[in-house]
Amino acid sequence: KAKVRSGGVATDYYEDLEREALQRSSIENKMNDALKNREFKMYLQPKVCLKTNKVCGAEALVRWKDGDRIISPTEFIPIFEANGFISKVDFYIFEQAAIFLRKMMDEEIEPITISINFSRVHLYNEKFVLQLKGIADKYKVPYKYLEVELTETVVFENISRIIDLIKDLHSTGFTMSMDDFGSGYSSLSLLKDIEVDVLKIDRAFFVDTMNSDRARIVISNIIDMAKELQVKVVAEGIETSEQVSMLKELKCDMIQGFYYFKPISVDAFDFDIVRKEY
Ligand code: C2E
Ligand code: MG
Ligand code: MG
Ligand code: MG
Repeated sequence: KAKVRSGGVATDYYEDLEREALQRSSIENKMNDALKNREFKMYLQPKVCLKTNKVCGAEALVRWKDGDRIISPTEFIPIFEANGFISKVDFYIFEQAAIFLRKMMDEEIEPITISINFSRVHLYNEKFVLQLKGIADKYKVPYKYLEVELTETVVFENISRIIDLIKDLHSTGFTMSMDDFGSGYSSLSLLKDIEVDVLKIDRAFFVDTMNSDRARIVISNIIDMAKELQVKVVAEGIETSEQVSMLKELKCDMIQGFYYFKPISVDAFDFDIVRKEY
């Protein structure tokens, strides 16, 4: 696409910028009301445990229901990270997860672990762990059922801060998970320093690699290394039965992907999902 044309009038480039700015300000104008009006919805994507063939966890994923339109987090999260609003959304989703777990326990169903994504902005919030505790306590949910997902690349921002934060979360009793493992550049060195409970192998590892011996060797070694470190492994973005059988052979702990489940709105989440075998 042409960037700046000679003459410098309304070019495609400037039109794009203008459209982006408009979209951004429309999202920013609407976000506070959206939170008040409960337009942010928690979806849950179940994770299947390969040992039991049952659902043993789920990831909470936010959606924005704007009238008839469902807006994807990839559209608004970068904007909310830039303006700080993401912090409110993350706590809101964490609270929805606690409410869901409370409901499970009230119905005397063995709770699953729910993981919640937290943006990098929380790293600089001194009261982060206290706030999470407050929400979990409000609904009397044991901390271990709440799993904090931090994406791998967040960690490089401030390694010493992250080590402290994870220690703090850990000693409180929350489950700690490293998301998108392998998508960054020093994933391995990170594992050396950071005590997580769960490693989520990035979807990119499983795309178009099923016939590749090299990919299999890398995945197999990540799983074995995690086992030695007593870290559970989740494979993300699994879509085919070939991928599932490979991961079963390699003794991966859990699978999350469209092969088993797409994200389900919390209102449509039937507890039969956790009773069945897959
Ligand atoms: P993520 O944490 O890595 O979440 C997994 C993403 O992969 C989700 O996209 C999920 O719908 C998608 N996915 C799951 N299985 C498959 C599959 O088999 N194939 C394919 N192609 N995709 C699959 P989603 O929901 O659009 O979320 C995108 C990203 O937005 C998330 O990536 C996470 O980084 C962020 N995000 C979502 N919800 C929240 C939130 O409440 N707070 C924060 N801070 N970030 C969130
Ligand atoms: Mg995640
Ligand atoms: Mg992920
Ligand atoms: Mg990912």
